[in-house]
Amino acid sequence: AAGGNSFKNALEDEIKKHDLTNEVIVVETGCMGSCQLGPRMVVYPEGIMYTKLKPEDGKEIVEEHFIKGVPVRRLSWEQEGKQFLTLEETPFFSKQTRIVLRNCGFINPEDITEYIAQGGYESLGKALTSMSSADVIKIIKDSLLRGRGGAGFPTGLKWELAKKQTSDIKYIICNADEGDPGAYMNRSVLEGDPHSVLEGMTIAGYAVGAQKGFIYIRAEYPLAVKRLQIAIKQAKEIGLLGKNILGTNFSFDIELRIGAGAFVCGEETALINSTEGKRGEPRKKPPYPIEIGLFGRPTVINNVETLANVPIIIEKGANFFKQIGTEKSPGTKAFSLVGKVNIAGLIEVPLGTSLRTIVFDIGGGIPEGHTFKAAQTGGPSGGVIPANYIDIPMDYENLPQLGAIMGSGGLIVMDETSCMVDVAKFFLKFTVDESCGKCVPCREGTRQMLNILEKITRGGGTMKDLDLLEKLGNVIKSTSLCGLGQTAPNPVLSTLRHFRDEYISHVKDKK
Ligand code: SF4
Repeated sequence: AAGGNSFKNALEDEIKKHDLTNEVIVVETGCMGSCQLGPRMVVYPEGIMYTKLKPEDGKEIVEEHFIKGVPVRRLSWEQEGKQFLTLEETPFFSKQTRIVLRNCGFINPEDITEYIAQGGYESLGKALTSMSSADVIKIIKDSLLRGRGGAGFPTGLKWELAKKQTSDIKYIICNADEGDPGAYMNRSVLEGDPHSVLEGMTIAGYAVGAQKGFIYIRAEYPLAVKRLQIAIKQAKEIGLLGKNILGTNFSFDIELRIGAGAFVCGEETALINSTEGKRGEPRKKPPYPIEIGLFGRPTVINNVETLANVPIIIEKGANFFKQIGTEKSPGTKAFSLVGKVNIAGLIEVPLGTSLRTIVFDIGGGIPEGHTFKAAQTGGPSGGVIPANYIDIPMDYENLPQLGAIMGSGGLIVMDETSCMVDVAKFFLKFTVDESCGKCVPCREGTRQMLNILEKITRGGGTMKDLDLLEKLGNVIKSTSLCGLGQTAPNPVLSTLRHFRDEYISHVKDKK
């Protein structure tokens, strides 16, 4: 989108022109994260990062840097007192801890040997040859890894419950149906490091006794789909997927299921229906998928980020993982940092990192001298964190106390020009459009909430409408069938809680 291909073509032309094709290899990677500075290129062995490249820059980089050995300063990340910064030295990267994104932007995701060269598939080998399935579950349980899709359910416990199910057929599903506005963490992992997810899924299959996995991915992610297809094919070719993996008696296969982009299909029972070829509508729970899931069999559903953590935990151990993050929320979290921030992009930080560190140290602050007002986490299911809580640790324990949730990692920054009533209306409109219509509270209730919000923003609302919004929102939360409806009122309730004065400024009576 930023024009990377045009730059790459121009650079390769220059390399050919100067007869450097044996000395310089151009490798296309997945996203490095700092999207707003793209197209970017890192030149090794120095590790110098060039940003905002244009096709015409290719000539200068080849002639100055590649031939004369003098990096082109005007195209690199500037910092006072230092002539050049390596990728790791840039403020955007130096404050991050990259576990899930460890290979994104560094390896060619279409070449399995690059993943293997980084230690990839060693954890699978370790699990299959020197650990029992109970050992694998124990290490994941001990790590306290929680599902990164939103609910934060303990992954090891989920695997243990699945293992206890007596069924000759079990399934693993990777939920890659990322649909929150502004969120693209999972897409970037799949585009940049698809094998980490395949490896995590295969280890999960071994742990619970499943022989088949499905990746449910939205059709709007064509590059991720293509790279997954290549990755699955390459893994099968060298015996890392399929029958008798690595010569053991464990077999596991993975298939893709392409979703049509309905937000509700991120809900696990709707996702199961859609994977079975049925209409993507939620089922009632219980029974939970772990008991009766895909095709009526016990099914573990983990999201992309959760699974990408698994190989590292197996390789480095539970204690390594627990040293990162907080006591109750160990590990890291990937966020897509977007909105009113200088350097928007994909980041990964230890859980418990403050919003201030994320927005100001990593994201470079608010553009054009504006001030930070709030950030929305968890997309249409989440809530806002106002400026006076900017130092609160971002983890599974603290965010719910503010009426926000961690969610899958969408993080939208707003400045003082953002109207919070409009923000709430935007998210509610999204859920009204995406409601599957199966149950009344969500189908009718969210529509009525939207009607009230529209009346308020037209200037026709009253103070009673604010109370009605709260009452209706709480009823929808407690009576909807699935997570979509149960969380749909959150953006309205949260902005009413923290920015009630803005709602009052829109209504007629103001008392
Ligand atoms: Fe469908 Fe909404 Fe009911 Fe979920 S809560 S089943 S999305 S109508």
